[in-house]
Amino acid sequence: MPRPLCATIHLDAMQHNLSVARACSPQSKVWAVVKANAYGHGLERGMRGFAQADGLALVETEYAVRLRELGWTKPILLLEGFFDDSDIPLLAEHALNPAIHCIEQIKMLEYTKLYRPIDVHLKMNTGMNRLGFMPAEYAAAHQRLAAIPGIRSITMMTHFANADELEHPRLPMHEQVRRFKSGSEGLAGQRSLSNSGGVLHSSDLELQSDWVRPGIMLYGGTPGGKSAAAFGLLPTMTLTSAIIGIQHIDAGDTVGYGSRFEATGPMTVGVVACGYADGYPRHAPHGTPVVVDGVRTALVGRVSMDMMAVDLTPVANARVGSKVTLWGDGLPIDEVAHAAGTIGYELMCALAPRVRVREG
Ligand code: PLP
Repeated sequence: MPRPLCATIHLDAMQHNLSVARACSPQSKVWAVVKANAYGHGLERGMRGFAQADGLALVETEYAVRLRELGWTKPILLLEGFFDDSDIPLLAEHALNPAIHCIEQIKMLEYTKLYRPIDVHLKMNTGMNRLGFMPAEYAAAHQRLAAIPGIRSITMMTHFANADELEHPRLPMHEQVRRFKSGSEGLAGQRSLSNSGGVLHSSDLELQSDWVRPGIMLYGGTPGGKSAAAFGLLPTMTLTSAIIGIQHIDAGDTVGYGSRFEATGPMTVGVVACGYADGYPRHAPHGTPVVVDGVRTALVGRVSMDMMAVDLTPVANARVGSKVTLWGDGLPIDEVAHAAGTIGYELMCALAPRVRVREG
């Protein structure tokens, strides 16, 4: 029998979440973000789950090419993947839409002839200070890019730093929108603004644009860890395992490496086949929620490489073989992430290759 740890990917939930994104931004076309192996779900599953998207967005050219090989014929946005001039023939050959974010890329496109026209995004840095042209430099970059033979269209884009918190004290989303508008004033072309946080706030007219680029919401999470269910989003990845051992301990006994958890009274501890080598966060503290046989209980002691321990005291009839849900259906991933001091994105992306994956 294989190790009982398994990630189940719910393709129907992926489809459903895409329809939620569309309903939030009915005026926009949707780039479904499938970077990082479709947030740990598998690139090919991302392609199937988001078959109704208007385009797919990711980072590496090689995975964009893989999407073409898998039969994806709609647009592909490369959020970063254009690194040097050796990428340019691939952009043309596979009709990839690179996000142009620095002058070096424009220079490369000026001296390397495109043998087939391409559509590009031009990124503005409106405060994230990661990639993109400053608002004051943007129009000049746009003009220079537009003059290159083979550039068929330029979509103007920016990325929100705090889309989950409209009124962020340092950089509110509206301030980024204001900078974007001022930097792109008078320029013709489509616009691409929102990630999931922006999409979930699309009732705010200021945020509406021709394209949106949701990621985490399509996988049933929210950027700020708010309740995904409240937005009608469904979990797309359920990580389950089983109890593989049971210990009955007394007050004063400790559990796991470092003996950091000490029982205050008699308790039953279940050992679960899942550890940090599977992608479960090692720093998850005692109390991080898990569900055993449908009953909510909690992690105890340090997470080891291949195992972790949970409190079985509240679970009547728990036995070796009892089903354990670590996140997903019945236990929101954002809740587990919050308890572990991280974000749902990280948990999904960190799922280790050794974890069996099935669809269901
Ligand atoms: N757009 C860009 C440029 C991104 O880098 C990302 C992800 O980080 C997204 C969209 C999707 O973001 P989210 O998963 O928060 O929706």
